Amino acid sequence: MQNREGMLVLFSGPSGVGKDTVLDIILSKDDYLQRSVSLTTREKRSGEIDGEDYYFITKDEFLKMVKDGQVLEYAQYGENIYGTPKAPVDKWLKEGKTVILKIEVKGAQKIRELYPEALSIFLLPPSMQILEDRIRGRGTEDEQDIKRRLEIAKNEILRSADYDFVVINDNIDEASNNVLNIIKALNFTYKRMNKKISEVIKNV
Ligand code: 5GP
Repeated sequence: MQNREGMLVLFSGPSGVGKDTVLDIILSKDDYLQRSVSLTTREKRSGEIDGEDYYFITKDEFLKMVKDGQVLEYAQYGENIYGTPKAPVDKWLKEGKTVILKIEVKGAQKIRELYPEALSIFLLPPSMQILEDRIRGRGTEDEQDIKRRLEIAKNEILRSADYDFVVINDNIDEASNNVLNIIKALNFTYKRMNKKISEVIKNV
């Protein structure tokens, strides 16, 4: 694709809505997309891989990284802290990659303040009942955690108004295509094409 410049994409949506599946699909379709691997203090779920799904670290390690300026943003979610490591994001943006942050709503707000041009997409479940069924079906959280995640979900959905785009995950392939199309379209805004336009008319 022409005119690649680094771009940040904030990808949010309640727990269980299918963010990881959408990310897996779109990452396999576009080489310029780069997924940021977050830091978390939560326990690893079965099947998750350290360094791929998250960097699983202790609270002390997390706080030390924050103190040393190595964390771009972080937020408390339920009992745990989640955050974005700074160095890889800086590097990928310099390389012209489109960096996707899977991030909850408070962290997304901090990134908007740091990078006002970041694109933001919110993935919405078709209904709260379907969301609850999906979280239960996953079988990775206990009852208390499920209740907490559903409560947070309601508040997160209310914050979807802060996002540029909202995509409903009714059908995973359709939702993934919609997310990818939105990201691709953003490469062709006038602002991002400005340099190319100047080149085209340079010798006229
Ligand atoms: P989970 O425990 O289900 O993997 O993630 C819980 C929440 O943390 C999700 O809403 C997810 O988007 C969010 N999250 C994951 N990584 C980050 C991060 O680096 N920063 C912030 N602020 N939230 C994150």
